[in-house]
Amino acid sequence: MSTATTRTLTSRTLAFRTLDGSTVNLDRAEVGAALGANVLFPDTGGYAEARAIWNAMVERRPAAILRAASEPDVIKAVAFARAKRLLLAVKGGGHNIAGSALVEGGLVIDLSLMRKIVVDPAARSARVEPGATLAEVDGATQQHGLIVPTGINSTTGIAGLTLGGGFGWTTRKLGLTIDNLKSARVVTADGEIRQVDRERHPDLYWAIRGGGGNFGVVTEFEFALHPLGPEVVAGLVVHPFDEVGPVLEQYQAALARASDDLTCWAVMRKAPPLPFLPSEWHGREVLVLAMCHVGPRAEAEAATADLRKIGKPIADVVGPMPFVGWQQALDPLLTPGARNYWKSHDVAAFGEEAVEILRDGVATLPTEECEIFIGHVGGAMTRVPAAATAWPNRAPHFVVNVHTRWREAKDDDRCRAWARRLHERLAPHAMGSVYVNFIPDDEARVNDAYGRNFERLASVKRRFDPANLFRTNQNIAPR
Ligand SMILES: Cc1cc2nc3c(=O)[nH]c(=O)nc-3n(C[C@H](O)[C@H](O)[C@H](O)COP(=O)(O)OP(=O)(O)OC[C@H]3O[C@@H](n4cnc5c(N)ncnc54)[C@H](O)[C@@H]3O)c2cc1C
Repeated sequence: MSTATTRTLTSRTLAFRTLDGSTVNLDRAEVGAALGANVLFPDTGGYAEARAIWNAMVERRPAAILRAASEPDVIKAVAFARAKRLLLAVKGGGHNIAGSALVEGGLVIDLSLMRKIVVDPAARSARVEPGATLAEVDGATQQHGLIVPTGINSTTGIAGLTLGGGFGWTTRKLGLTIDNLKSARVVTADGEIRQVDRERHPDLYWAIRGGGGNFGVVTEFEFALHPLGPEVVAGLVVHPFDEVGPVLEQYQAALARASDDLTCWAVMRKAPPLPFLPSEWHGREVLVLAMCHVGPRAEAEAATADLRKIGKPIADVVGPMPFVGWQQALDPLLTPGARNYWKSHDVAAFGEEAVEILRDGVATLPTEECEIFIGHVGGAMTRVPAAATAWPNRAPHFVVNVHTRWREAKDDDRCRAWARRLHERLAPHAMGSVYVNFIPDDEARVNDAYGRNFERLASVKRRFDPANLFRTNQNIAPR
């Protein structure tokens, strides 16, 4: 146990880590008076739950966690952290792979109590508080036959996903989540609330669309909504992994012909014991094509046929289902509580050499739960200029995510080494860019994530957060 933690537990004084790396002792009563009744300390009930995040590998003990119930709570916490120069973290859904929602010895603003969603079907817009999950956003908007384009795992927080960019089954048709962000309310480092949109604080509005949590705490997002569902045609086609070469080749060709209504991602892993898979395949290496057609129902059969006729699949379970059901279909493979380490590349195309590397990677999967995940983005997101938002890579591409997942700390080194090795070998076949939300905590690739947008981000950061109060994230230092 660290000295800071010991002191936190044993005295009325709390030891906080500060922005300059030193420690400051604050009276517990003073912290309580400044932050209000919802503040939690390591020895108060609810602290353990508030400290829980998706990636169990990240172990950090904040000195205090404020469960913010409203925007004024957020303002108070930002003002207190600024005045005392405390290390500060912001927790939305707690899913970030780097565990950036927590900071050792610092103050955390936990937004999970702020999850109100107000849908205006006539205006086709929704106002969403930052503690909401994707499932809650889908649930509220689908009541009106509408959606916000988001990601593929329903327990993910809307806040971190949006601030990093956000892509999923509807990106090709409707763009990234940030392409559908109409406005936001941001509490900046000076404690001011800024309503940002195209007209008001356009630089800040630009920066939060991909620039992560660097610029302030978003207390409300306003999204554009689109009609969709309630049913889509979606599901999985499972191939023997031995066929990876021809299947990936035909998969890429089919995607190039596909309309923006169709999205298909590929997952390579050992088959879980899914009821529709013959039992002899359980635990064996497979390549899964996961697809979703969000266009007119009458076109779905023909649209998906190109992908479904590839090779000789072991199983094909593509069919009509509720969109909200499909949004949750992969949740059981991505539950919180496991140890996780991700390494990611953007890749334009998979040639023979890259496929060989994937083949080696799958041959050496360190656990049953590890996988190589290939997302695909294109279509509507490519029609937004690269300088229009902070997200820079607007070319169609694959997002390769080496998902390393295991249960025991003793396997940390072995599992991370597998991911790093595979990632290193894929690097010559990659575009150089990376999705900021897929960067683990031991990697300094923020420059790669922003490319030509980096300098502008650093200068917006200087204007709105010159002391780098919001630094517990994939950090853009002020310049
Ligand atoms: C299982 C799983 C599946 C995923 N699938 C997808 C996917 O399909 N598509 C996709 O695009 N991404 C996906 N992601 C990545 C996801 O977008 C990021 O992990 C994102 O950071 C999660 O947001 P969060 O609010 O849950 O995380 P948190 O860990 O709570 O937040 C991450 C960071 O965002 C910032 N932040 C959060 N809330 C606020 C706020 N209100 N104001 C300011 N800053 C804030 C903070 O810096 C914080 O450290 C997935 C992640 C996981 C774990």
